[in-house]
Amino acid sequence: MEKDFDLIIFDLDGTLYQRSPEIDMVFPKVSIKLAAKSTGKSEEEMQVEFMQKKDELARLINGNPTSTLTLFHYYDVEFKEFEDEVNKLLNIESILKPDPKAIKAIEKVNKLYSLFLFTTNNGVLSNRILKTLKLDQIFPISRRFSLDSVENLDMPKKKKLEYIKPGLRGFEFILNRFGVMPEKTLMVGDSEISDIIPATKLGIKTYHVVDREKLYALPEWLGMKLAEVSNLSKVK
Ligand SMILES: [Mg+2]
Repeated sequence: MEKDFDLIIFDLDGTLYQRSPEIDMVFPKVSIKLAAKSTGKSEEEMQVEFMQKKDELARLINGNPTSTLTLFHYYDVEFKEFEDEVNKLLNIESILKPDPKAIKAIEKVNKLYSLFLFTTNNGVLSNRILKTLKLDQIFPISRRFSLDSVENLDMPKKKKLEYIKPGLRGFEFILNRFGVMPEKTLMVGDSEISDIIPATKLGIKTYHVVDREKLYALPEWLGMKLAEVSNLSKVK
């Protein structure tokens, strides 16, 4: 008997693919550049200040914030400007490759369960990553909540930040949108701070992707047999 979930929410970065320093370095780099630009300081000065702000925010949210969240929390920078800069610098298509084992595992889970993607990454880059990984059909645009989804919310910027992980409102938004109960929802993610802890706070079940093997083992953990399954019972 398979585990009973009405919705499985996947994180993107570090969950559907292995992160790498080459990718990770772009986000703090762009954040510091734009923070410097917005304040008229040099990038060298901002390097120090930004790290202090990041520590300050870490104490505030009780965990390590991303550079992206730190940037938007403290500096007057438009989401769009940040996205454009990241998208320009990051040649993701030459860094990532499709992972047949991951595709197989996720395709299998997709046959029985309703899937959704919740990422702090921006819409354009998420799309490029999913396409490169050959997972864009499984997570079509209508089944993604990314930084541009936050941007499009009709509310003040400070309020919007609560929809960025590890804030809880993004998770609540997704639960409401599908009308699912937290205990019938599974969060699959690599980050203790951004995925596991906030989901747990809301009563969402969690699956911590600590390495690639853990991702490949998801169908088995869900109780899915090795044989093919029908998609009759899937909730849309
Ligand atoms: Mg992640």
